[in-house]
Amino acid sequence: MSDKARLARVLARSHYATSFEAESDEEVYDVRKESLVRSILTEIGEDPDREGLRRTPLRVAKALDFLTSGYHMSAEEIIKGAVFEENVKEMVVVRDIEFYSMCEHHMLPFFGHAHVGYLPNGKVVGLSKVARVVDVFARRLQVQERLTNQVADALMEHLEAHGVAVVMEASHTCMMMRGVQKQRSTTVSSAMRGAFEEDSRTRAEFMSFLRD
Ligand code: ZN
Repeated sequence: MSDKARLARVLARSHYATSFEAESDEEVYDVRKESLVRSILTEIGEDPDREGLRRTPLRVAKALDFLTSGYHMSAEEIIKGAVFEENVKEMVVVRDIEFYSMCEHHMLPFFGHAHVGYLPNGKVVGLSKVARVVDVFARRLQVQERLTNQVADALMEHLEAHGVAVVMEASHTCMMMRGVQKQRSTTVSSAMRGAFEEDSRTRAEFMSFLRD
């Protein structure tokens, strides 16, 4: 199956079941993933056949496909399909882009906000596409620093901008729920490219947009 076909299948089928949908016990989504989830349930001492868990393998398989659907998406396609020529020289900043990702060490969620700025070089991109580029890389197993860099590099490359800045703030459930159990700490990462890396005034201007 091509990546596109696979993505279409994932997105069409991975929505979370609502109470309005009649759930059928016979529905099969992905035999292998479902049987792996069933094994995990058994290993932690659960009974995968009890009422509340009977459809859990199916739901987990769908959720996992959705949460990792970024592997089948292309930032280049998203950006190139929404770029237009515009003689804008001023910095463009998109703040507070909500994102959800999963840490590759524990496969537990981390989530927060991304702030993206760029200095156009004759080309601008639809603002909603900036958020979609964040999703392309967030919906994979990640470490926050790499996620931040990948968003910056994709925009820099495909927008051919004078510069790109990305700041991400996130809470990591693997820190909050286990390990050090630091519930209130957030992690901030940043990636500066081009003018944002070379010129401290450009960087300062971007940072001033992030303060209220
Ligand atoms: Zn982790």
